[in-house]
Amino acid sequence: MVIRIPYRVARIIVDDARAQVPNEACGLIAGDGKTIQSAIPLSNVASSKGSSFSLEPKEQLGALKRLDAENLVWMGVYHSHPNSAAIPSSADLEEVSDHGLLQLIVSLEKHKPELQLWRIGASGVMPLELIFETQSDARFDDATAPSQKQRAAIVAAAIISVILMLAISFTLLPPAPEITSFP
Ligand SMILES: [Zn+2]
Repeated sequence: MVIRIPYRVARIIVDDARAQVPNEACGLIAGDGKTIQSAIPLSNVASSKGSSFSLEPKEQLGALKRLDAENLVWMGVYHSHPNSAAIPSSADLEEVSDHGLLQLIVSLEKHKPELQLWRIGASGVMPLELIFETQSDARFDDATAPSQKQRAAIVAAAIISVILMLAISFTLLPPAPEITSFP
């Protein structure tokens, strides 16, 4: 199973992870089930925030309502590892209660942040492929870029207007002056 994430959503997660150092950042990820189209940072209310996380329940409820209103599917949870790899810790494995959700871990251990997606289920822990995209928010594409048909119509209109302009300019040309011989 391959999950996609636009860079702008990955940026929200990495920015939150960096802002919460030395603590772990956490939040929700949502989308259409195949693409993570939204990330909502939440407060970490764990007693030891530096090595574990716990989502603030009221904020989580508010975030879930927001996702519902925006017609987004709750796909999972993200959290950060400020000083370790993007691999589920033993605490992470114990904490997971909803096995249907994805677990996205962002590691700040190295200079370049690393994001790894996991599915933690009854059958074990499985890494999932995460593909980064520059443009994968369909709603954004619809709103800004013209469709194939619209593009074809624009090109056709441009060609027709050039032909018309040429036709008009030829008809408006004054008649060629008569060539007269010198006296
Ligand atoms: Zn963790």
